[in-house]
Amino acid sequence: MKSYRKELWVETPNRRDYINITPQVEQCLASSGIREGLVLVNAMHITSSVFINDDESGLHHDFEVWLEKLAPEKPHSQYRHNGFEDNADAHMKRQLMGREVVVAITEGRLDFGPWEQIFYGEYDGRRRKRILVKIIGE
Ligand code: ZN
Repeated sequence: MKSYRKELWVETPNRRDYINITPQVEQCLASSGIREGLVLVNAMHITSSVFINDDESGLHHDFEVWLEKLAPEKPHSQYRHNGFEDNADAHMKRQLMGREVVVAITEGRLDFGPWEQIFYGEYDGRRRKRILVKIIGE
Protein backbone atom coordinates (compact mmCIF):
# COMPACT_ATOMS: atom_id res chain seq x y z
CA MET A 1 0.00 0.00 0.00
CA LYS A 2 1.17 3.52 -0.79
CA SER A 3 0.50 6.57 1.31
CA TYR A 4 0.79 10.29 0.66
CA ARG A 5 0.51 13.30 2.99
CA LYS A 6 0.35 17.00 2.26
CA GLU A 7 -0.64 20.16 4.12
CA LEU A 8 -2.43 22.86 2.14
CA TRP A 9 -2.16 26.42 3.51
CA VAL A 10 -4.95 28.98 3.28
CA GLU A 11 -5.46 32.55 4.45
CA THR A 12 -8.87 34.04 3.76
CA PRO A 13 -9.39 37.83 3.55
CA ASN A 14 -12.64 37.62 5.54
CA ARG A 15 -13.65 36.15 8.88
CA ARG A 16 -15.90 33.70 7.01
CA ASP A 17 -15.22 32.32 3.55
CA TYR A 18 -15.61 29.23 1.39
CA ILE A 19 -12.87 27.98 -0.90
CA ASN A 20 -13.28 25.20 -3.46
CA ILE A 21 -10.18 23.09 -2.81
CA THR A 22 -11.04 20.33 -5.30
CA PRO A 23 -8.26 21.34 -7.76
CA GLN A 24 -5.62 21.18 -5.00
CA VAL A 25 -6.86 17.77 -3.84
CA GLU A 26 -6.78 16.52 -7.46
CA GLN A 27 -3.19 17.79 -7.70
CA CYS A 28 -2.30 15.84 -4.54
CA LEU A 29 -3.90 12.74 -6.04
CA ALA A 30 -1.90 13.13 -9.25
CA SER A 31 1.33 13.57 -7.24
CA SER A 32 0.58 10.50 -5.14
CA GLY A 33 0.34 8.19 -8.14
CA ILE A 34 -2.42 6.28 -6.30
CA ARG A 35 -5.11 4.85 -8.64
CA GLU A 36 -7.36 2.96 -6.19
CA GLY A 37 -7.90 3.97 -2.57
CA LEU A 38 -9.23 6.70 -0.30
CA VAL A 39 -8.44 10.34 0.29
CA LEU A 40 -9.10 12.02 3.61
CA VAL A 41 -9.24 15.83 3.68
CA ASN A 42 -9.59 17.56 7.05
CA ALA A 43 -9.33 21.02 8.52
CA MET A 44 -6.42 21.16 10.98
CA HIS A 45 -8.14 23.86 13.03
CA ILE A 46 -11.19 23.82 15.29
CA THR A 47 -12.76 26.94 13.75
CA SER A 48 -12.88 25.75 10.13
CA SER A 49 -14.45 22.89 8.18
CA VAL A 50 -13.99 20.67 5.18
CA PHE A 51 -17.20 19.52 3.53
CA ILE A 52 -18.62 18.44 0.19
CA ASN A 53 -21.38 20.33 -1.56
CA ASP A 54 -22.31 22.31 -4.67
CA ASP A 55 -20.10 25.12 -6.02
CA GLU A 56 -22.96 27.61 -6.21
CA SER A 57 -22.68 31.10 -4.74
CA GLY A 58 -26.35 31.34 -3.78
CA LEU A 59 -26.00 28.20 -1.69
CA HIS A 60 -22.90 29.59 0.02
CA HIS A 61 -24.87 32.69 0.94
CA ASP A 62 -27.62 30.43 2.29
CA PHE A 63 -25.04 28.59 4.44
CA GLU A 64 -23.96 31.95 5.89
CA VAL A 65 -27.55 32.95 6.75
CA TRP A 66 -28.34 29.50 8.21
CA LEU A 67 -25.18 29.36 10.32
CA GLU A 68 -25.74 32.89 11.60
CA LYS A 69 -29.23 31.85 12.76
CA LEU A 70 -27.90 28.79 14.60
CA ALA A 71 -24.68 30.30 15.97
CA PRO A 72 -24.70 34.08 15.50
CA GLU A 73 -21.31 35.79 15.80
CA LYS A 74 -22.65 38.74 17.79
CA PRO A 75 -23.00 39.75 20.49
CA HIS A 76 -19.68 38.16 21.39
CA SER A 77 -20.65 38.38 25.09
CA GLN A 78 -23.38 35.71 24.66
CA TYR A 79 -20.73 32.95 24.74
CA ARG A 80 -18.73 31.79 27.75
CA HIS A 81 -15.85 30.85 25.45
CA ASN A 82 -15.39 34.52 24.55
CA GLY A 83 -13.35 35.56 27.57
CA PHE A 84 -10.04 36.15 25.83
CA GLU A 85 -11.29 35.24 22.34
CA ASP A 86 -14.24 36.24 20.16
CA ASN A 87 -14.60 33.07 18.13
CA ALA A 88 -17.10 30.86 20.00
CA ASP A 89 -19.47 31.13 17.03
CA ALA A 90 -16.69 29.86 14.73
CA HIS A 91 -16.23 26.73 16.88
CA MET A 92 -19.98 26.05 16.63
CA LYS A 93 -20.18 26.71 12.89
CA ARG A 94 -17.32 24.28 12.37
CA GLN A 95 -19.18 21.70 14.44
CA LEU A 96 -22.24 22.09 12.21
CA MET A 97 -20.33 21.92 8.90
CA GLY A 98 -17.99 19.10 9.91
CA ARG A 99 -14.29 18.45 10.22
CA GLU A 100 -13.43 16.22 7.26
CA VAL A 101 -14.43 14.34 4.14
CA VAL A 102 -13.38 10.99 2.71
CA VAL A 103 -13.62 10.43 -1.05
CA ALA A 104 -13.15 7.17 -2.92
CA ILE A 105 -10.42 7.07 -5.56
CA THR A 106 -11.28 5.00 -8.63
CA GLU A 107 -9.04 4.69 -11.69
CA GLY A 108 -6.93 7.61 -10.46
CA ARG A 109 -9.83 10.04 -10.06
CA LEU A 110 -12.00 11.40 -7.23
CA ASP A 111 -15.13 9.24 -7.45
CA PHE A 112 -17.70 12.04 -6.96
CA GLY A 113 -21.46 12.06 -7.35
CA PRO A 114 -23.00 14.74 -9.56
CA TRP A 115 -21.97 18.30 -8.58
CA GLU A 116 -19.88 17.20 -5.60
CA GLN A 117 -16.95 19.49 -4.83
CA ILE A 118 -14.71 19.74 -1.78
CA PHE A 119 -14.80 22.99 0.17
CA TYR A 120 -12.80 24.54 2.95
CA GLY A 121 -15.17 26.53 5.19
CA GLU A 122 -13.51 29.28 7.22
CA TYR A 123 -15.27 30.78 10.26
CA ASP A 124 -12.40 32.66 11.92
CA GLY A 125 -10.08 33.65 9.09
CA ARG A 126 -7.60 36.40 8.22
CA ARG A 127 -4.70 34.19 9.38
CA ARG A 128 -2.75 31.29 7.94
CA LYS A 129 -4.38 27.91 8.50
CA ARG A 130 -3.84 24.37 7.25
CA ILE A 131 -5.75 21.54 5.62
CA LEU A 132 -4.46 17.96 5.75
CA VAL A 133 -4.69 15.71 2.70
CA LYS A 134 -3.94 12.03 3.36
CA ILE A 135 -4.21 9.46 0.58
CA ILE A 136 -3.86 5.70 0.96
CA GLY A 137 -4.18 2.99 -1.63
CA GLU A 138 -2.25 1.59 -4.56
ZN1 ZN B 1 -11.73 29.75 20.47
